[in-house]
Amino acid sequence: MSRSVNVAIIGTGVVGAAFINQLKNLQSVITFNVVYLARSRTALIARDYQPLALASWEADVQAATTPTLALSELAQFLRAGTAPAILIDNTSNEEIASFYPSFIEQGISIATPNKKAFSSGLQTWKQIFAGAAKPAGGLVYHEATVGAGLPIIGTLRDIVATGDKVQKIEGIFSGTLSYIFNEFSTPEGKDVNFSDVVAVAKSLGYTEPDPRDDLNGLDVARKVTILARIAGFEVESPTSFPVHSLIPKALESVKSGEEYMEKLPEFDGDMETLKENAAKQNKVLRFVGKVDFPSNTVSVGIEEYSFDHPFAALKGSDNVVSIQTERYQNPLIVQGAGAGAEVTAAGVLADAIKIAERI
Ligand code: NAD
Repeated sequence: MSRSVNVAIIGTGVVGAAFINQLKNLQSVITFNVVYLARSRTALIARDYQPLALASWEADVQAATTPTLALSELAQFLRAGTAPAILIDNTSNEEIASFYPSFIEQGISIATPNKKAFSSGLQTWKQIFAGAAKPAGGLVYHEATVGAGLPIIGTLRDIVATGDKVQKIEGIFSGTLSYIFNEFSTPEGKDVNFSDVVAVAKSLGYTEPDPRDDLNGLDVARKVTILARIAGFEVESPTSFPVHSLIPKALESVKSGEEYMEKLPEFDGDMETLKENAAKQNKVLRFVGKVDFPSNTVSVGIEEYSFDHPFAALKGSDNVVSIQTERYQNPLIVQGAGAGAEVTAAGVLADAIKIAERI
């Protein structure tokens, strides 16, 4: 008899919808039975564990009137099924994330692009992975929490698991900030204001509705926290190391994103000076996250890179990470699209497949 797993999916937003559509078309020897499909308030629940039909999932979800299960009830429901269960969390919800240790403890595996559980307090991280290491614990895979579908977390875990020692990780982990700096600071020396580049990024839909949510560096700090912890650096939280916010002090407290955009040009001079100083040394500016073992530091902020460095040649909104280890003295580099529905969903689906093969 072929292997089958029960699958619970929470979240039908940008990534969630792409995930369901990829799962619907998946060709696999493993049978993925979707038994729970939830959006914020309502859910489709297969009480008899007969798989939900995914062909018309959008209309079915729209028409659903059954309230979502409380997380403890969901765990109970999944445990009562005869097949092993995988929870797919396609939300950015904090409450679901804080329930991961309990799911894992109960033998339910998790695949997710939600960074919250892995980049909050160190205690939660330890609880999650201690639970997953127990023979009856669920597995947890979260490749898409850094660089979407790019093979960064799995690669780093393999490096560490095989006994290599990480010396330095540095990377551009925000598609938005990648785009902004790739446009603002180029080896060719483009004559463009920082505020104008931010305005274009906003108009293209690359930024959050209030661009300060990208420019405060916190999202990058969360991703660096995750990579540092995998590499063996016990980061307490994403606010426990220096994070250079790109928001001028005076604009931190302005009420709206609109007011921030209006006043941003007043600060163009500061960024221009940084850019010119870098250009004088044949360098560009990039917004990077760094984990440096020799100096025992983790940081997020603007750095300068020579024109011939791979980070200087980055295009569009791509992500890139460079990992230097004892074995990879010339750093191992992974680069490509680090955001977007399809690549992110593919990262989550690949994790779900790995879990299904291993439980
Ligand atoms: P989204 O806002 O489009 O979708 C999230 C969905 O989750 C929403 O539909 C929301 O209603 C639902 N939701 C929230 N709380 C819920 C709850 N308690 N129960 C059921 N549903 C709930 O966001 P998205 O872009 O699809 O991102 C999903 C996750 O993927 C986030 O954690 C995000 O950080 C991560 N991610 C996204 C990208 C990307 O390119 N979009 C890339 C990498 C990682």
